[in-house]
Amino acid sequence: MKTAELFDNRTVFSLEIFPPKPDADESVIYDTLEELSDICPDFISVTYGAGGGHNGCRTIRIASDIKSRYGVESVAHLPCAGLTKAQAAEILDSIREHGIENVLALRGDKPDDTPAAGDFHHASELISFIKENYDLNVIAACYPEVHPESKSAVDDLKWLRYKVDCGADHLITQLFLDNRYFFDFYEKVCIAGIDVPVEAGIMPVTNKRQIERMVKLCGVQLPKKFVRVLEKYEHNEAALRDAGIAYAIDQITDLITEGVDGIHLYTMNNPYVAHRIFDAVQSMVKVSSCAAD
Ligand code: FAD
Repeated sequence: MKTAELFDNRTVFSLEIFPPKPDADESVIYDTLEELSDICPDFISVTYGAGGGHNGCRTIRIASDIKSRYGVESVAHLPCAGLTKAQAAEILDSIREHGIENVLALRGDKPDDTPAAGDFHHASELISFIKENYDLNVIAACYPEVHPESKSAVDDLKWLRYKVDCGADHLITQLFLDNRYFFDFYEKVCIAGIDVPVEAGIMPVTNKRQIERMVKLCGVQLPKKFVRVLEKYEHNEAALRDAGIAYAIDQITDLITEGVDGIHLYTMNNPYVAHRIFDAVQSMVKVSSCAAD
């Protein structure tokens, strides 16, 4: 099923996982998926090469297994930086052969300032390439706090509109910890005439190092309320985890109440945390029934 078809007057609830590193045992992800599939999310997306690795085969295999073994819809991420069109076509052919219908088309993080080799400079070029050559549903990334490389919020919004004009069917946001950024962004998205569903990306922050990394990488602002939580519980692992879960539940409740199209939970491959969050909000979302049931 194409993810864009899921948004039928209800809040979509989806999950994101990452494949094990190339030198790690792949089977561990199946224990994680076993537990996550109990949630019966609307779909699970699988990252690709996050952190610079090229473990794309794992992404495709895992995304395919999510559908066939667990009966849950899946999405394969595909960052295009450094790929030639022939390489992209090879990966997309494999995605189709594995029965995957949804791709999250990304540029990917550039390792440094040198211009990347390959045929794609921006996600929009990959989106056009997919739409011209494949019958795939395309999801794209968006940034409530503006992409760190953007000249301005207006410029970022202009290029987001362009991604949708190129064929993006559905958007997922970067994580944010202050819902005001999302609400302001969503208003501008509507004014810009972008009319595809926008899922809010929520990351439960359960350790200090994790959020320090995200702040550095994505330029996410830490609200005062959140900083106080971090300072109070940074030396108490269990308390910080509980506070991080409570914070995410609070964010999600507010977003659903305000009518968000969907929640995309960055699970960090932690089913315990995902379950606690889902248990708290499940009556507010109505997930599609699992084909495996
Ligand atoms: P783009 O849409 O190309 O945008 C990048 C920058 O260029 C922005 O500043 C934009 O405003 C600007 N821009 C866009 N189009 C143009 C244009 N035509 N001309 C000039 N400027 C333009 N990374 C991974 O490596 N693997 C993953 O699995 C992964 N998953 C992600 C999932 C989500 C939900 C999100 C939000 C991000 C993910 N990322 C992943 C990170 C992503 O690759 C980075 O944020 C990257 O820096 C930008 O990717 P993009 O697709 O948004 O790029």
